Amino acid sequence: MVKTVSTDIPKLKVVMITLGIFIVLMTLLYGAFMRVHGAQSHLEAFTELEIDKANYLNQAIYITGYGGFIHNFKNAVIRRDIHYLDNAESQVKQSIQTLDQYLALSPEHAKQVLAIQTVINQYRQNIPVLRKMIVQGASTQEIDARVKVDDTLAVVAIKEILNSHQQHPLALLKQTGQDYQAITYRLLIVVNILFVVSLLTIGYIFHSYKKLRIALVEKNIIFTCAPSAIIAADETGNITQANTSAMQLFEFNETEIGHINIDDLVPNEIKQKHTRLRREFQRSERIKPMADRSQTFTAQKRSGEQFPVDISIATYEVNSSKHSIVVVDDLSERERIKQQACTDALTGIGNRYAINQRLQHVYHLIKRETHPNNPSPDHFTPFAIAMVDIDFFKTINDEYGHQTGDIVLQQLAHLIQQHIRAVDFVGRWGGEEFLLILERVDLTGATKIMQKLIDVIKYASQRSPFPAPITVSAGIATYDKNKTINTLISQADQALYQAKDAGRDQVAVFSQATLAPQDTGSTSD
Ligand code: GH3
Ligand code: MG
Ligand code: MG
Repeated sequence: MVKTVSTDIPKLKVVMITLGIFIVLMTLLYGAFMRVHGAQSHLEAFTELEIDKANYLNQAIYITGYGGFIHNFKNAVIRRDIHYLDNAESQVKQSIQTLDQYLALSPEHAKQVLAIQTVINQYRQNIPVLRKMIVQGASTQEIDARVKVDDTLAVVAIKEILNSHQQHPLALLKQTGQDYQAITYRLLIVVNILFVVSLLTIGYIFHSYKKLRIALVEKNIIFTCAPSAIIAADETGNITQANTSAMQLFEFNETEIGHINIDDLVPNEIKQKHTRLRREFQRSERIKPMADRSQTFTAQKRSGEQFPVDISIATYEVNSSKHSIVVVDDLSERERIKQQACTDALTGIGNRYAINQRLQHVYHLIKRETHPNNPSPDHFTPFAIAMVDIDFFKTINDEYGHQTGDIVLQQLAHLIQQHIRAVDFVGRWGGEEFLLILERVDLTGATKIMQKLIDVIKYASQRSPFPAPITVSAGIATYDKNKTINTLISQADQALYQAKDAGRDQVAVFSQATLAPQDTGSTSD
């Protein structure tokens, strides 16, 4: 009996779906993260730039304005002091430089910076004149009239720059707000998807759990109620689980599971061999049904009683140790019925069905021996059949009664069985006729055997416990490759009639000369 073990859990499908969902979620989260990160970087860069700009602007205003260059220039005019002028001269270069640095960061203010620098340059051009007039001792009014610069353009430009800087934080706030709105929106989508996915996952898990539970319950019912004995054993052969049928069949109870080895369930004489085979089997493939094994095995109950079984074994791996499931079917009843079907109820020897089976088996062996692949096809072992019939059995029945006739049949069957060789076979062909299959003999050998048997029957039947003296007649036919089973039987039957015709209590062999014209010894079946 072959059983296959399938592992049909759709693992790959589940893994693929989970992986897909995971990748989608990670992509969305990564997108949101990158957006946040981008906004943050943007904000940082923007802030840094704005700080730098503000620094340069402050510096430029300070150096240029009333605390710096222009302040010193004007003080030099009012106080006519060269010292202030020196300060102003030293600051003018720095002032233009700082404005250039600011311009590099704020190209949008190029117009305003240029206006400021134009005004500063006008002041700068006046420095030598101013110096000269101070040295010459010109009055403040004279000096002022000569070096006065209209700095309105610079003042307007500075105001414009400062105004634009006041607008910037608002724009920044607006941009940041938009960024955060976009991020919030994305996160909301992710959270919603997560929620749906979670619901689906929970649903799937619940559904799978329900299916698994049903499958487990079903398998448990099958295991418990199966008419076959099912046994699970670990790597050492110790029984770990057994169903009710197994416990009943092998005569052990639930408390004994775990203390019985599977090797204890085979006849003692093959226990060692069984252990070795079991280990070899467990080392083999991961899941291996015991295929290609049509023969019957023998098992042993704990009481020692032996019985025929059919077994299927599958091995599987649990934590890298090989376990087995063994399914055992008790064939006792089947064998008993088979035996019954082959046995003649009155005599206890093989019946006509058994004779046919045996003849087919012998024919099969001969076919194998005479196959062209066989090195010596002509040298097969010959065999003969003999049909035996009680002489005047009707008279026995008439004289001693039908019941005694039955006993005669039983005694005769027993007698024949006792006196034939181990390789030979006898069955009741029907009524008071018996058919013998004499293996490994030719015609001469078969004749000798049958003659001896006829004599044994004649003399034995004259003694107790035989109820009546009898004689038998026999007809012999030998095999050749052109004869079918039916032909062979028919020829033995014809030889038997020859023996009867010749006066009974003797053996006759079939010869072509005795063939009836219509019997051609067909080989068609
Ligand atoms: P012969 O074979 O020598 O020609 O004579 P016979 O009297 O044996 O001839 P036949 O074959 O015609 O008779 C066979 C008899 O065997 C007939 C039948 O009543 C008897 N018989 C067949 N089967 C049984 C059986 O099972 N029990 C008993 N008691 N008699 C049986
Ligand atoms: Mg007869
Ligand atoms: Mg007869």
